[in-house]
This record gives sequence, structure tokens and C-alpha cells, in this order.
Amino acid sequence: MLLVSAPILGIPEKAALAKVIDSSWLTMGEQVRLFEESFARMHGADDCVAVSSCTAALHLILHALGIGPGDEVLVPSLTFVATANSVLYVGATPVFVDIESADLPLMSLAEAEARCTPRTKAIILVHFAGYLANREQWQRFARSRGLHIIEDAAHAPGLREVGTFGVAAAFSFYGNKNMTTAEGGAVIAQDPELLGKIRQARGHGMTTGTHQRLNSRTPQYDVTMLGFNYRMDEMRAAVGLVQLANLHEWNEVRRILVVLYRRLLAARCPAITIPFSEARRSAYHIMPILLPRYADRQDVIDELRNQGIQTTIHYPPVHRMTLYRELSPGTHLPRTEDFAQRELTIPLHPQMTSAVVEAVVEALATAVNSCAQAGTAA
Ligand SMILES: *Cc1c(COP(=O)(O)O)cnc(C)c1O
Repeated sequence: MLLVSAPILGIPEKAALAKVIDSSWLTMGEQVRLFEESFARMHGADDCVAVSSCTAALHLILHALGIGPGDEVLVPSLTFVATANSVLYVGATPVFVDIESADLPLMSLAEAEARCTPRTKAIILVHFAGYLANREQWQRFARSRGLHIIEDAAHAPGLREVGTFGVAAAFSFYGNKNMTTAEGGAVIAQDPELLGKIRQARGHGMTTGTHQRLNSRTPQYDVTMLGFNYRMDEMRAAVGLVQLANLHEWNEVRRILVVLYRRLLAARCPAITIPFSEARRSAYHIMPILLPRYADRQDVIDELRNQGIQTTIHYPPVHRMTLYRELSPGTHLPRTEDFAQRELTIPLHPQMTSAVVEAVVEALATAVNSCAQAGTAA
């Protein structure tokens, strides 16, 4: 089966894991610190905090900003549910904002403006599919309203601009992301004081970690805030260091595959449209396409599956999930809903060859063209 995404793991990762096991220091030690320094450097930041997931990263950012009950946070609905869940964790209210258009499925500025109230405190921008939101536009808007910008950068690691939009950015190293530590995440924050708060809240609110106490030989620590256990361990960090060294090359392979997909799909299957038609900085996390309205998506999914090609949907809108329907009934985001109904995510990962891309396009062309004929016959 050709999967939508597949991690690249091999001998270097095994060697890194073996080294950690031999060292018998298992968590929050040298590997985590090295990983934090390297990840920060790649993004032009002074420092970052490695955590257990992107979800934890988002929670820690909102927590450190003091966002809580009575506050509202603007979020897209075309995202993974964790983006909105993190707002609920701190007791605040996620307010869903529609996308700009089917061609530009990022949060709409006009819609964000319309959903702003005196209670709005922050915006979580998602760089959907790896394509970056317009930084200047959002910064101007955030400044004029006194809002914090938080980046959910789960789709966009490795781009230098990421982490410079606003107060902080959250990254994911889950197994299907551009680089992986199996589970894992990181926070980049501009303000060292905010990052310090996040670092402390990651480890129960303790003033020092176990490794620091070992080195300074002072067994004392204090707890000065209610924190969490969102630590990263040494094995994940060691794997992360190996993965990080490949990230730029992998993102470049993704870019080349996307260029090929766009060219072949336009030639073989012009009824399919591909979002982000205009050039835009991207980490090319996934390959979303929009099926023509006459196509039955389930038929296309089944036909591709029969040929050994997995497809997925990014995303079933969060505001349509039972939990969120119950929390905010009556939310209607027409552009997000239309996009999500026609969207299909096709395989994209750096181990694919151009021959594999061609095979996916051929299978898609057959599936979609047979829908067109069925439509005509009906
Ligand atoms: C994967 C993902 C997350 C959650 O990441 P975890 O590391 O699994 O917590 C959050 N937001 C987006 C947009 C994602 O794609």
C-alpha cells in the first residue's frame, strides 16, 4: 500500500537510540538540550522548548499567556482537532473562522475581523498543508486589535519564517509529520521570559530539572506554579537530532514532488483543482486536491485503494464534530464545509519517486474520468 505519509527511519535512528540506552540517562538530558538548540538554530531562534507533543506545545503557550475563562481565541476549523482542544484546556472559547477560498484554504482575515469581540485575546494560525499564512497582514491585524498571534506550525517545520509571526509557534514530531520523534513537539517563543515560563510549566512547574540538579549537586527545587508533565525523553530527542539533519533535504524533495504532481494533474486531469495555485512559501506537508463536483469522493477513494493507494481527508471540519457542535451549535462556515466535502489528500513523502507520482496521477485520472462518464450516462 502506498501511504499518504510514511516516516523515514533507518540505521542512524537505531544507532542514536542504542547510544541513549547505553548511556542509561533516559529523559530531559543532553540529547533533549542538543535537540532544542539545533531546532531553534534551524528556525533562527535563540532557544526553544522540546515537549511531548504539539498539543502540549499549544496548551503551554496559551497557559503561559494567561489566556483563560472568558477569553476567546480565533481558530480555523480546517485543522486537526488539537488546535481547538488546546483552547478548551485553558478554559477559553475557540471561535471558528472560515477559510479565504478553495484556492487559499487558510484563515480569512475578513472573517477573523468579523468574529472579533472585546473578549478576543489571540489567533491561532495554521500553516495548512505547509503553506505559510501572510505574516505582514496578520501582524497588522493583531497589532490593531491587541491580539497575540500563535502559530500552529505542525505542518511547517524547517522554514525560517515560522516562529516569527507572533508570540510563539508550536511544532509536531508525530509519526506522519515532515520529521518525527514518534510522538513529540516543540515551542519557539520570541520573548525569553515567556519561553522560560513554558519551560517551567513543561516540568510540573519545578524550578529545576533532574539533570540540572545532578550537575549543580543541589538537591533543592521549588514549585512556583501549577505545571504539567509535558517532557520529552532522551530517545525521542536523539531520533529528532538525526531527523532534523535531513529536514531541509526532505522538504526539498517534497517540493519537487509537488511541482511534478501539479504539472501531471493539470495535463491528465484538469477537472481536479489544486489549492495554492499562486507561489507561496511552504514545507509541503501534504498534497491536498479538490475533486470536481460531479465526482463521488467515496468512489474515487475506493478505486485508488483497489490500486494500493491510500488517500485521506484534511480535514473533517472541527466545528462539525459532535463535541464542538454541542459547544457552539449553529456555527456555519460555508467555504470550509465546501472545501472539506471535495478535498482528497493524496500520497506525498520523500521516499516517493517520480514514477510513483505518475502512477497516482494515472489512477486518479481513471477514477475521476470514469465518474465524468457515469455522470454523462446518468
Ligand atoms: C498533528 C497536528 C497537531 C497535533 O500534533 P501532536 O504532536 O500529535 O499533538 C496539531 N495541529 C495540527 C495542524 C496538526 O497537523
